[in-house]
Amino acid sequence: MKLLDGQTAIITGAASARGLGKAMAKLFAEHGARIVILDLDAAQAEDAAAEIGHGHIGLACDVTRKQDCDDAVATVLKALGQIDILVNNAGITQPLKIMDISHENYDAVMDVNLLGTLNMSQSVIPHMRERKTGKLINMSSVSAQRGGGIFGGPHYSAAKAGILGLTKAMARELAPDGIRSNAICPGFIATDITGGKLTAEMMDMILEGIPMGRAGEASDVAGCALFLASDLSAYVTGSEVDVNGGSLIH
Ligand code: NAD
Repeated sequence: MKLLDGQTAIITGAASARGLGKAMAKLFAEHGARIVILDLDAAQAEDAAAEIGHGHIGLACDVTRKQDCDDAVATVLKALGQIDILVNNAGITQPLKIMDISHENYDAVMDVNLLGTLNMSQSVIPHMRERKTGKLINMSSVSAQRGGGIFGGPHYSAAKAGILGLTKAMARELAPDGIRSNAICPGFIATDITGGKLTAEMMDMILEGIPMGRAGEASDVAGCALFLASDLSAYVTGSEVDVNGGSLIH
C-alpha cells in the first residue's frame, strides 16, 4: 500500500548523504510522494532530489532566513501546486559544556534548529490553512527529554526542547484547521551530524546506555516519519514520538 500517493512533502536539511532527511525523502517517495529537498547548497539539494528519482525538486534554502523559506514555498507552489507535509529536519549540534557556550554558539544552534522550524512552519501554514489539511513533523531529540548526554551541548538540548513546545503549541492552535503537528525524538542515530567529533569513548558511553545495544539507523527514523506523515496517524497530534532503542523510557 502506498501511503502518500499524490502528496507533496518538503523536507529541510535533506541533502546530507547519510542523513535522516534523505532517508525520509527516499521512503516518502517510495510511498508515492513528490519530494522537495531544501538545504544550504543548491547543487547538493538538486543532486539529492535527482538521486531519489524523476519529478522531485531540490532547492537552496537557509532555514534561518525567513525570506529564503517564503521564496522556497512560493517556488514549490508554482511548480507543484500543493504542500501536504513539512518535515523540519535541518539541524546542527555542537558538543560543548555549559561554560564553553558563547553567544555565537547559542545563536547558531538555536537559529538553525528552533528559529528554522518556526520560519518554515510560518511559510507553509497559510497554504495548509487554506486547504484545511497539512502535516508538520519536527525533529527534536532525546537530548531535549533527558538533558543531553548523547553528543550535543546544553544549548542543543534547549533548542530541541523549544521544538517540543513549539510542536505542541502549533498542534493546539492548528488542529481546527486540519493541520497536525508532531515531533520525533531520535536517540543516537549514525549520521554525519557529529562532524567527525565523536570519539570512541563517547561512542562506548552512548552504546552502554541503549538497551537495544545498537545505534539507530536513518531508516528507523524514516519509518516513524512516514507514520506521522500518513493517515495512519490521522488522530495523532501534539505528540513526541521516541525512536531511541530504549535509551529513554518514560
Ligand atoms: P546531518 O548533519 O546529516 O544533516 C543535517 C542537514 O541540515 C545537512 O544537510 C545540513 O546541510 C542541513 N542544514 C544545516 N543548517 C541548515 C540551514 N540553516 N538551512 C537548511 N539546511 C541546513 O544530520 P542528521 O543526523 O541527519 O540530523 C537531522 C535532524 O535530526 C537534525 O535536526 C538533528 O538535530 C536531528 N537529530 C539527529 C540525531 C542523530 O543522532 N543523528 C538525533 C536526534 C536528533
